[in-house]
Amino acid sequence: MARVHNWQIGREMSYWYPESRPEKQFAAVFDTNKCIACQTCTLACKTTWTSGKGQEYMLWNNVETKPYGSYPLAWDLKLLDMIGGSQWNGGVYEGQTIFESAPAGERVMGWKPEAQDYAYPNVGEDDCAGQVDGGAEFSLPHMAWFFYLARICNHCTYPACLASCPRGSIYKRPEDGIVLVDQGRCRGYQECVKGCPYKKVFFNPMTGTSEKCIACYPKMELGLQPQCFVNCIGKIRMAGYLSTPDKARADNPLDYLVHVRKIALPLYPQFGLEPNVYYIPPIHVPTPFLRQIFGPGVDAAVAAYRNAPNDDDLAGLLSLFGSTESVMTRWVRQGQEVAGVDDRGTTLVRVPLTEPVVERAAFDRVYQIMRHNCP
Ligand code: SF4
Ligand code: SF4
Repeated sequence: MARVHNWQIGREMSYWYPESRPEKQFAAVFDTNKCIACQTCTLACKTTWTSGKGQEYMLWNNVETKPYGSYPLAWDLKLLDMIGGSQWNGGVYEGQTIFESAPAGERVMGWKPEAQDYAYPNVGEDDCAGQVDGGAEFSLPHMAWFFYLARICNHCTYPACLASCPRGSIYKRPEDGIVLVDQGRCRGYQECVKGCPYKKVFFNPMTGTSEKCIACYPKMELGLQPQCFVNCIGKIRMAGYLSTPDKARADNPLDYLVHVRKIALPLYPQFGLEPNVYYIPPIHVPTPFLRQIFGPGVDAAVAAYRNAPNDDDLAGLLSLFGSTESVMTRWVRQGQEVAGVDDRGTTLVRVPLTEPVVERAAFDRVYQIMRHNCP
């Protein structure tokens, strides 16, 4: 085991391989406050990558309702039980990661789902925590709550799938940090399925190999965001590249949200993988629950998000979510307008902070037609 630095848990930890960061790291921010669980992302991925034989049960992208939803069944609860508690002291995680709690002779603390665990992708959908008694109304703050958690592979900095593969079939691309399974090397031992705490590697019984989200790398190489991002109805997603905290640039949209404003947080940072999909937490959910999922930064992130209407920079950047298919590597606010810019300095999109309201006349004199059903 090597000693590596994991900034999400504020300390060094043990990992199977020495620290080796890519030139740039594929990353994403999901705003959970905007997800409506329409599953368009799930289907955009399914029809693009996993419509073949042996892939029927695979959901490289899935959306589950928390607190009761999970795919596969209890993927997170089982592991939380196994690593035992999540002790944080400020920004430092004092419990054990899945690498540090690995049993003797194993590289990772993990478990392998049974076929039955994949049988209910929508278990717990729209189930509330707390009771809504007959005749009761929702009140603020919500006593009864749930929220939608969209999930893809996190293209982790310290992937457990990669660490646990005895054949070295899984690799992290040095050019963009995307984690891939070499289909030619894989022999289907499924150690990665057991090792990934997010359960984002799937075994294909028809090919005998493991498969996983590829971050739509053929699109990313062209400067385009993945399918589940550009098809997102709620415009909750933004893909790009994330720096380490010491190299954060305020004009990089993801750096700004994750490092500068700290409004987007990793999923179960205590597992120790430094996952690279970040979540803006849902502001209506009790913070003790959110701290367990997103770590100790939750309270500040929720406060910053609540204040976004008074914060032109934050409101502006949030307005750029879902505004273009291209990857924005830079953003800039000019007065009441915000722009997304690509690698070459080309302005991709401009969005006003406040959408103008346009009232259309009932009768269009130019075309001599009625624009409204009721004049
Ligand atoms: S989320 Fe799982 S499959 Fe994806 S890189 Fe991390 S450990 Fe590997
Ligand atoms: S497409 Fe977007 S809004 Fe719809 S479920 Fe997926 S992440 Fe949520």
